[in-house]
Amino acid sequence: MEHHPTRVTGGCLCGQVRYQAEVFLDNGYICHCTVCQRSTGQPAEITVIVKAGTLKYEGEEPKYYRSSSGGKRGFCANCGSRIVWQAVEPEDDWLTNVTVGSLDRPAEARVSRHIYADTQLPWYHVCEDLPKLTEADTDMLIALLRAELRPEG
Ligand SMILES: [Zn+2]
Ligand SMILES: [Zn+2]
Repeated sequence: MEHHPTRVTGGCLCGQVRYQAEVFLDNGYICHCTVCQRSTGQPAEITVIVKAGTLKYEGEEPKYYRSSSGGKRGFCANCGSRIVWQAVEPEDDWLTNVTVGSLDRPAEARVSRHIYADTQLPWYHVCEDLPKLTEADTDMLIALLRAELRPEG
């Protein structure tokens, strides 16, 4: 399946962080990993991937928390809204993603899969008809995303 980026705008609750980006709106995913659960304070984090190099902030940038060796999570320093997972290495920028709720028009996003479904909370049921990948599938997931979204393969 070929995915085309769409130009979108978004931001945090208080409006201090505003961004524009080209995102793959039809390829959102629900991450049930325990880091996303802690980071959002919610059962899962739902995000869409940003086309590499297209995320631009108007005004304030988010504050970042380095949550893993490969990525940092950006949030508004004023209101706390989670905005972005940003790859640390520039060559991994094609994995950068924004939270679906930070989009100005989140209803336009479409979720295509679950990831880290092994830690999905047993009482949290959403989009149950979609494919579920587990932590053990992480390498396959990266390969999938690379094939679907990375510009030059
Ligand atoms: Zn804010
Ligand atoms: Zn996660």
